[in-house]
Amino acid sequence: MVEMLMSTYQVEAWTPLESHFSTEIGKIPIGSLIAFDYRPYRLTEVRDRAFDLWPAEIQAEYAQMGGTDPDTWWARVQTIRLQPDGRHEAKGLHRLVRAHYRLHVLPEHYAVCHRCGDLPPCREAVVDRQVAEATKVMDQAMALRPGDCHACGEPVTGRHKAISFPGPNLIRPDLPNGTVVFHGRHGECGNSAYRYDERWAAAEPGRARPTSALPVRWPSDSARGQHHRLHRR
Ligand SMILES: [Zn+2]
Ligand SMILES: [Zn+2]
Repeated sequence: MVEMLMSTYQVEAWTPLESHFSTEIGKIPIGSLIAFDYRPYRLTEVRDRAFDLWPAEIQAEYAQMGGTDPDTWWARVQTIRLQPDGRHEAKGLHRLVRAHYRLHVLPEHYAVCHRCGDLPPCREAVVDRQVAEATKVMDQAMALRPGDCHACGEPVTGRHKAISFPGPNLIRPDLPNGTVVFHGRHGECGNSAYRYDERWAAAEPGRARPTSALPVRWPSDSARGQHHRLHRR
């Protein structure tokens, strides 16, 4: 019996270099070439799955919405069959998906990596890049001294507008309390302050947030709801 895993494939996380376009599974003609988990496949079958065979958490999600017809729900559960392209003897994949999942459609002529067989950019290259980015962020954090802007790493002097945060330093817990400061209000450092404000508020419920006193930065925002817009960025 083949174990069918709910796919966690997220099309946003990776785009093959040669993708034609991405679209919902139901709009892709059977027989199309698609990219799935860094590999090229033919989509050979899409079927709706009976409601009582859906994973329990999706049944619960549907019940909570109060829907009456799971067969036409835009996020219903389906099964897809995928055949590795050009390898008729190979075992196909059988996966549970949801109808709103998107897949990248490939052209008939596409390139694969000679080393690993992935559609470029290869999984290994993507992971390397993510590790390099995470390392860079950590190196920058480790170089911070008290009084430095926690976004750009440059000292904040009296000439600058600044946003500072009392309490434990969530970026560098080894530095003293009250050492988180950002060049204020405009530009990238100010944006970082707004993002830090989210973490800072979540760390201790009920805090009066330093950025809530700041002026609205988007002129089109009405007074109501402005903070939601600000803090969700
Ligand atoms: Zn490769
Ligand atoms: Zn700065």
